[in-house]
Amino acid sequence: MRLILLGPPGAGKGTQAQHLVAKYGIVQLSTGDMLRAAVKAGTPVGLQAQEVMARGGLVPDDVVVRIVAQRIEEPDARKGFILDGFPRTVPQATALDRMLAEREIGLDAAIEIRVNEEALLKRIESRIAETRSRGETLRDDDDPRVLHRRLAAYREQTAPLVAYYSLQGVLRTVNGMAPIPEVTKAIDRELTKALAAKAAPVFAKPAKKAARKPAGQVAKKVAKKSSKKLAQKARKAVSIGKKSKTEPAASKRKAKRRTAKQKRGR
Ligand code: AMP
Repeated sequence: MRLILLGPPGAGKGTQAQHLVAKYGIVQLSTGDMLRAAVKAGTPVGLQAQEVMARGGLVPDDVVVRIVAQRIEEPDARKGFILDGFPRTVPQATALDRMLAEREIGLDAAIEIRVNEEALLKRIESRIAETRSRGETLRDDDDPRVLHRRLAAYREQTAPLVAYYSLQGVLRTVNGMAPIPEVTKAIDRELTKALAAKAAPVFAKPAKKAARKPAGQVAKKVAKKSSKKLAQKARKAVSIGKKSKTEPAASKRKAKRRTAKQKRGR
């Protein structure tokens, strides 16, 4: 299974990803985690990303696309993966489409965890307070001002992906304001639907061009050109899968049979 988790910072993508990892045995690929590891290790990518991350901006597309392309090649990602925090921009999404197409694989779903921004701010502020009370160090970007910037980046650059995946027919939206177990259940329900839709049989297309169009559509076209009577004929013809010009031939045959019977004197 291959999934994308979409949602602003603090929507609960990480928490839900952990549940999905346990349930489906697939890996969580968090670009945020990868970038933080790179910063910690002081790699060239880390050095490039550090400053942008600290101020709540987005790391350049080519940098993240490269690290994701490398990561999905690793053996543990063969069975499937959950992309958490990627893609975050339309160019990243199109790069992902290319990556998947090259490997002849596709996405099963893009799950949008929809949240209310105000409630989100409160949620993150309490997360900051809890981390402080445990005596743990805060993430550089766990700062209300940085958070505002990250939310703005989400609104401007990531939110358009909701429409992007909706157009691809893979978008599934859940209410992220519900309690965590409820969100988990909603995601499970959506994934069950997505997998069932994927497994649904594909029926062969009818051979005739006319039969492919809904009867009403064909009838409307005809009605525009000619009389109401013709439109009724066309509707009837489409519903039995024949062209209307075959009708007079049928009635001619009937009339011939009737004359033959009369001749035989019956
Ligand atoms: P996250 O842990 O997903 O909230 O990411 C933390 C930070 O890493 C973000 O605020 C960005 O600066 C950076 N980052 C993570 N993923 C991406 C991405 N796909 N594109 C650009 N920047 C990213």
